[in-house]
Amino acid sequence: MARIGLVAHDDKKDDLVAWTERNRAALAVHTLCGTGTSGGRVAERTGLTVTRLLSGPLGGDAQLGAMIAEGRLDALVFFQDPLTAMPHDVDIKSLSRLATLYNILFAVNESTADAVLMALESAGSRLG
Ligand code: PGA
Repeated sequence: MARIGLVAHDDKKDDLVAWTERNRAALAVHTLCGTGTSGGRVAERTGLTVTRLLSGPLGGDAQLGAMIAEGRLDALVFFQDPLTAMPHDVDIKSLSRLATLYNILFAVNESTADAVLMALESAGSRLG
């Protein structure tokens, strides 16, 4: 079982919700947390248990970064919007930097998120 963080920028939230719906069964075996709005929308739509942090721009990204630095997150699914300037760009950069620094699984788009989930499944079946 992995600890997975979920975040999506506003224009990508529908994509994240659709991705979690499609992968509901695979995600159900993991421990999920997410920034306020993203996590809330995923929980509401899928019925999965998602621990909600603060909203991203209000510190949720920073909370995820702290979890990574403390070894409390194994994977981050962060659907980023590359076409819109964000007021909390500094937090986004920090979160991306920490995910890179601590070498956790880090998916910024759907194809990579699929690959991360497959990798976790195959690691789980090897262990189990
Ligand atoms: P939100 O945060 O899920 O609370 O909207 C996402 C973000 O960091 O933009």
